[in-house]
Amino acid sequence: MPTKDYYKILGVEKTASQDDIKSAYRRLAKQYHPDLHPGDNAAAEKFKEINEAYSVVGDPDKRGKYDRGEMDMGANGGFNPFGGGNGGFTATGFDDIFDLFSDAFGFGGSGSRRRGAQTSAGSDITYQVELTFMESVLGCSKPITFSRLEKCPSCNGTGAKDSAHLKTCDKCGGSGQVRRVQNTIFGQQITVGACDKCGGTGRIVTESCKSCGGKGVITKNKVINVTIPAGVENGSVLQLTGEGNAPRSGSGRNGNLLLEFSVKPSALFKRDGYNLYVNVPVSYFTAVCGGQIEIPAPEGVFIHNLSEGTANGEVLRFRGKGIRTQRGTVGDLLVTISVEVPKGITRSQKKALEQFENDNSLKNYSKRRAFLDEIAKTYPKK
Ligand SMILES: [Zn+2]
Ligand SMILES: [Zn+2]
Repeated sequence: MPTKDYYKILGVEKTASQDDIKSAYRRLAKQYHPDLHPGDNAAAEKFKEINEAYSVVGDPDKRGKYDRGEMDMGANGGFNPFGGGNGGFTATGFDDIFDLFSDAFGFGGSGSRRRGAQTSAGSDITYQVELTFMESVLGCSKPITFSRLEKCPSCNGTGAKDSAHLKTCDKCGGSGQVRRVQNTIFGQQITVGACDKCGGTGRIVTESCKSCGGKGVITKNKVINVTIPAGVENGSVLQLTGEGNAPRSGSGRNGNLLLEFSVKPSALFKRDGYNLYVNVPVSYFTAVCGGQIEIPAPEGVFIHNLSEGTANGEVLRFRGKGIRTQRGTVGDLLVTISVEVPKGITRSQKKALEQFENDNSLKNYSKRRAFLDEIAKTYPKK
C-alpha cells in the first residue's frame, strides 16, 4: 500500500473530479514554485510532493490503480517526476507542467525579478530526436547537436564595443521602463511599458561590438550528451531547463531546450502504455506437443516452455516483463501465440498426418466435435 495520501497533499476529497484535482494542483504548484521561493528547501520539497501527487491522481488510469492500492511505488515509496539530481529535467507526459511554467514565466521573469531594467527570457529551442524502439524502451544516452544563441563573450552580452560606449538610457534613466500618462474620458490613465529608446534594457550602445554586431548574442553550435530515460513515448517532450537560447537583451534567463521524441516503430513489439505486445509464431508440432519457444522482451530473448495443446491466438501474460521506468512503473509483456500451419509438406509427412488423423478421429477436437453436434441439432435430418 502506498504510504502517501496524495489527496491530502493536494487538499482535495477522494471523490474530487479530475478538473478539481487539476485546479488544486495548478494553484498549489504556482504557490510553491521554486522560482518564487529561492533557497527555500521546505517550499522546494512541497513543490516536489505536489508534483508527485498530481502525476498519479491527475491521471485517471494511475488514480484508479492508486485508489485500489495497486500502485507500484518503487523502492523509496514514491516517484519523482523530476528525475535526476540537477533539477533541470522535467519528466515527459506532464503537459500541465509546461502550461504552468509558461504561466509562471509568461511575463518575462517572475515578480520578484522585475526590479531594475526589464529582463526578457531567451527563447526555447525544439529539437527532434529520433529513437529506435529499443532506445525508447530501455532509455539511452545520446549526443545532441544543435545551434543556439549564447551571450557574446567579447561584450559580455551588452552589445557595446566597450564600457565607454555603453551609456545609461536618458529616457528611462536606466530602469528600462517608462510611464505614460494619458488623459481619457475616465480620467488620467497611467501605463508602464518598456522604454522605446533602449528597448527595455536601460542602456544605449553608442558603438557596437564587432563580434556580435551589437546583438549581444552569437550563434554557437553545441553538443550536449543527453540521458533519455527509459519508457519515453513517440511525441513526448523532455525539457532541459536553461539549455535554450540566451536572451537578446543580455540579462534574463536562458530559454529551454525541448527534446521531442520520434520513435521508430518496431517489427516485433507494439506498445500500449507500459505494456508490450508481441506475436510469436510457433510450429504446428510445438502447439500440439508443447516445447521451448523464444520470446523477445526488453532485456533480451528468453525461453518459455509452451504447454501441450496451446491454441492459436492464446495470450500469455508475463508480469513485469514490459517497460520498466526509472520512476518504478513496470508494464507487462503480452504474448500472442500464432500457430503456423505448415505449407509445402512432403508426401511422407502427409502420410504421417493422415495416420494421426485416423487414429484420433474427433476425440481430441472438442471444439470441432461441439460444432458438428450443433450443426446436427440445427439441421435435423428429415
Ligand atoms: Zn530607456
Ligand atoms: Zn558582442
